[in-house]
Amino acid sequence: LAEKVQSAIEKIGRKGRIDEETLEKGLREIKLALLEADVNYRVVSNFIKDIKEKALGAKVIKGVNPAQQLVKIVHDELVQTLGGEAEKLNLKGKPSVILLIGLQGSGKTTTAAKLANYLKKQGKRVLLTSVDVYRPAAMLQLKKLGDQIGIPVFLEEKEKDAVKIAKDALLKAKDESYDVLVVDTAGRLHIDEELLEEARKIKEEVVPDETLFVIDSMTGQESVNIAKAFDERVGMTGIVLTKMDSDARGGVALSVKGVTGKPIKFAGVGEKIDDFEPFYPDRVASRILGMGDIVSLVEKAQEVIDEKEALSMQEKLLSGEFTLEDFRQQLRMIQRLGPLQQIIRMIPGLSSQKMLKQLEKAIDDKKLKRIEAIINSMTPEERRNHAIINASRKRRIAKGSGTSVKEVDALIKQFVQAKMAMKQMKKMQRKMAKKGGRF
Ligand code: GDP
Ligand code: MG
Repeated sequence: LAEKVQSAIEKIGRKGRIDEETLEKGLREIKLALLEADVNYRVVSNFIKDIKEKALGAKVIKGVNPAQQLVKIVHDELVQTLGGEAEKLNLKGKPSVILLIGLQGSGKTTTAAKLANYLKKQGKRVLLTSVDVYRPAAMLQLKKLGDQIGIPVFLEEKEKDAVKIAKDALLKAKDESYDVLVVDTAGRLHIDEELLEEARKIKEEVVPDETLFVIDSMTGQESVNIAKAFDERVGMTGIVLTKMDSDARGGVALSVKGVTGKPIKFAGVGEKIDDFEPFYPDRVASRILGMGDIVSLVEKAQEVIDEKEALSMQEKLLSGEFTLEDFRQQLRMIQRLGPLQQIIRMIPGLSSQKMLKQLEKAIDDKKLKRIEAIINSMTPEERRNHAIINASRKRRIAKGSGTSVKEVDALIKQFVQAKMAMKQMKKMQRKMAKKGGRF
C-alpha cells in the first residue's frame, strides 16, 4: 500500500501543480491502494471525496512542493476519519462497568488485564471477571494475568450460565465498593447467533458504562461485517484495536471506525501487560500512508524553508546558472532542517535498511561542514566560475579550509556532475512538454 500511495503522490508532485485532472488521477490510485489494504469501499469513497474537496480548495499550488502538501492533506483527512484526538473512557457508574466483546483470539482476555492495569495505575480499584463458560482455560488465563498484576479476579468455575457470573461479579464489585469492574467474555471463531445473544444478555444484566469491541488489526476485509454484527446486535461504545505491533497497516482501523462511527479508544501494541496505549489517530494515519514521519518533516520544512528562497533556488537549478555560491546556500538550507541523519530517516520509501545505510554513509553532517568550509575558502570569483580553479588555487583553498587538495577536487567534480544532471533533467522536461506528456 505504502508504495502505491507514494507513487501516486509522486506522480502528482512531479507535475509541479495540482489541477483537477491530475488530482483525479492521483486520488484514483490512492483509492485503489486503500481498497487493496482491505478498507471498506464506502469508507474509501467518502474519504476520497473529502480529500478532493480539500486538495482543490486549498490552493496547494502556491507552496514549495505540492506533493508534500498533498501528503499532509491526505494524512490530516485520515486522522479526521480515524477520530481526531484520542478519546477517553467514559466511566460514571459506581462501580463503573466495562464489558469486552469480540471474536475468539481477538485479544479480549489480554486486553481485560491490560485495561485493568491501566486503570489501576490511575488509582482505581479494579475487579476483573471472566464469563467464558465454554473454555475453563480462558478463566484460568485471566486469573493468571490478574495475579501477575495484583488485581483480583472473580470466578465461578463451575457455573455454566455466563449471565449469572456477570451478575454475581457486579454484586461483589458493589459490595466491596470497587471503582471498576472489567468483564471479559467468551468469543467464537466466527460470528454466531448464540454468541451475540449471550453478549447482549450480559450487557442487559450489567448495564456497562463502556462496551468495548476488541478487534485484531490483522482481521482484513471481514472486519466490517464483524464490527457491524456486534454493533447492531450487542451495541458498543468504543473499539480496542489489538496487535498493532504486527505488520498490519491499520486498514482495519479505518473500516471499523467508518462502519460503526464509534471511537477507537485503545491500541494493543504487544503481548505484555504494558503494551497498551490510548489510540493515536495521527500515528495510525502515518502508518496507513506508510509515510514514516514525512508529515512532521513537511511541517518542519514549512517552518524553516522560506518559500521564495526555495522557489528561486529551483529556478536557478533548472536554468543551468547554478554556481558554487548557490550550492553553498542550498547546503545551508538543508542544514537548517536539523541533523541530516534524522532527516534521511524521515524520507518515505527509504524503509530499505540497505538504502538507508548507503545514504547515511554518503551524506553526513561532518562532510557537509567540510564542503561548506571548502566553498567558504574560495574567492567570490571562484565560486561564480569554478573553471578558473587551477592547481595552485586548489592548494590555497585546501589550506584555507583545513582540508586536502583531494577533497577540493572531489567537491568540484561532484558539483560539475550535479550541474550536468540538472541540464539533462531540464532537457527531458522540455521534451516531455513538447510531447504533451503529463508526468
Ligand atoms: P481472546 O480469545 O479474545 O480472549 O484473545 P486473547 O487475549 O487470549 O489473545 C489471543 C492471543 O493474542 C494471545 O496469544 C495474546 O497474547 C495475543 N495478543 C493479544 N493482544 C495482543 C497485542 O496487542 N499484540 C500481540 N502481539 N499479541 C496480542
Ligand atoms: Mg479470552
